[in-house]
Amino acid sequence: MPRQAARAATLHQRMLGWLQNDTVPSPPAPAPNPLTENGRTAVRRQLYRDVGEFLFSNGLEPTPRNFMVAHSYLSGENWEIGRAVADHLHSGKPLSDGEVGEIVERQRASQLTPDRLAELASQLEARLNDCVSAVDTTRDSAATFGSALNEEAANLNSDPVGTLHRVIALTREAVETARLAELQLQQTRREADALRSDLEQARRAAEQDHLTGLPNRRCFEARLATAMAEPGPRNVTVALCDIDDFKQVNDRHGHPAGDRVLRFVGDFLRTQLGRGAMVARYGGEEFACLFEGETPHGARAALNAVRDKLATRSLVNQESGLSIGVVTFSAGVAPIVDGDVHAAMQDADAALYTAKRNGKDAVVVART
Ligand code: GH3
Ligand code: MG
Ligand code: MG
Repeated sequence: MPRQAARAATLHQRMLGWLQNDTVPSPPAPAPNPLTENGRTAVRRQLYRDVGEFLFSNGLEPTPRNFMVAHSYLSGENWEIGRAVADHLHSGKPLSDGEVGEIVERQRASQLTPDRLAELASQLEARLNDCVSAVDTTRDSAATFGSALNEEAANLNSDPVGTLHRVIALTREAVETARLAELQLQQTRREADALRSDLEQARRAAEQDHLTGLPNRRCFEARLATAMAEPGPRNVTVALCDIDDFKQVNDRHGHPAGDRVLRFVGDFLRTQLGRGAMVARYGGEEFACLFEGETPHGARAALNAVRDKLATRSLVNQESGLSIGVVTFSAGVAPIVDGDVHAAMQDADAALYTAKRNGKDAVVVART
């Protein structure tokens, strides 16, 4: 066996030995409570096991990239990668290292990566340099033309006809140079416009969730930071809303129907909360809301009103005509105290968990 392969096999074995360490008891059923230290450890341990099992059963090398993809798929943290893996496995084809590479590349291509930004910026810089050199050329040629005219002016009395011909030739040359520079400027301008719109599109894509069209988590966090930077004391409240039993929608009606339900709920939250809150897709089937100038109790009332209204809508799968029924969500609400955004999001998450544990379809305000 080549040295590298032997090393990989040893590592694989070592990794699996570690991942499958059975000296610690299995997590208790039902699902562990992720709010307790023991529960979190159990959830993590199960994930380690599942990742190892996934890599091993698919014959994948224990590379960082394969670990990342397995983790994305099993934890649901990166929905796009998870979905690509699920689709691939669903098609019955084996998942090779090459396929994993393609999945990662496709996902990277759809993101505004620092590399892509740097590429766009250097293209714009090059176009700017083209503009500067076109302007320089025009200025130089105007200066040359000016001094040539001055020289010819001195010959006007001695050789009027010859001077006239040379001045005409000089003028033609200057006009041609100006025309070429103008063409170059026009071309540069077109390219710069296209690049600017590429950049704008990339910036928008970087802040928008492509499935629902809502602002994404990055945009939400940026807006939170802006809200915190505003002067003066005022209430700022956050909420996390999570669709109840959404997995069942996917399982019963398929992912495309699940996607439509996600779009519907996101849009419903956005339009019903209106100017009262910014609604973003936080990830998976979770939405985050930012209520500026609102107390947690006001936010709870607003979300309960959305919940009540949503309960009157019975959804139908457009493709199959089958009834999906009423879709509900649970929410956790928390105030931002002393500007601590991170703590507020954690509080909202804990309150959401309480809402789920108490039977779902409810809004719970965090105890702070
Ligand atoms: P709970 O009431 O406890 O929240 O249960 P749940 O089924 O909603 O939650 P769970 O975390 O078990 O499952 C969430 C599912 O959401 C799993 C994942 O496949 C699905 N999901 C996440 N993002 C998307 C998406 O963009 N489209 C679709 N169709 N499904 C998604
Ligand atoms: Mg859910
Ligand atoms: Mg969820």
